[in-house]
Amino acid sequence: MGRPGEGTEWVLVDTGLENSADFILQCTEKRFGTQSKPKAIILTHGHFDHVGSVVKLSEHWDVPVYIHELELPYVTGHISFRAVPLPHDGSCPGMPGWKWIHTPGHTEGHISLFRAQDRTLLIGDALILTKQESLRSVMTHEERISGPPKYLTTDWVAAEQSVKHLRDLHPALAIPSHGEPMGGAEFSQNLDLLIENFDSIAKSVPQQ
Ligand SMILES: [Zn+2]
Ligand SMILES: [Zn+2]
Repeated sequence: MGRPGEGTEWVLVDTGLENSADFILQCTEKRFGTQSKPKAIILTHGHFDHVGSVVKLSEHWDVPVYIHELELPYVTGHISFRAVPLPHDGSCPGMPGWKWIHTPGHTEGHISLFRAQDRTLLIGDALILTKQESLRSVMTHEERISGPPKYLTTDWVAAEQSVKHLRDLHPALAIPSHGEPMGGAEFSQNLDLLIENFDSIAKSVPQQ
């Protein structure tokens, strides 16, 4: 993660779908220049919508790929995959000031990323935030938060613990993999709501 004007060192967190590589390259070249490449790629977990372009991009840039060691068995099937486990001390290679946090439940080795200096949280799929302007949420006044993506989540007890873990970080800005970023006050209100009603909000299956 870099900010415009703060130099060119950056890391890519997650790689989208299998056909996302060209779009990601367009974005990073526009932001950091055509000669720039990330220090590393860090994956929040091994689902197809997060690792889809990792082989193509890591080969294009020739950079290491980090993922939680519990997640490795699910991703090593990719051809010539170069993933290595994240450092045990919680540091994020190429991202000074950031720590990875084990937030299992959605998957065994799921991680979120947190920068204590400004309390920015990259949630991954530990929970979903929805758009305020979505018609359904306006009509029903429903909460803008949900648990992790329902159909792929494997351990709901761990998922609930992970949501509590994220609450305890008191993030000032929370950025999910699916949905819209949310500011700290609104996020903590929504998190409290989710934690108090975890079974009905997170685990209820939406009507088709
Ligand atoms: Zn996922
Ligand atoms: Zn996802």
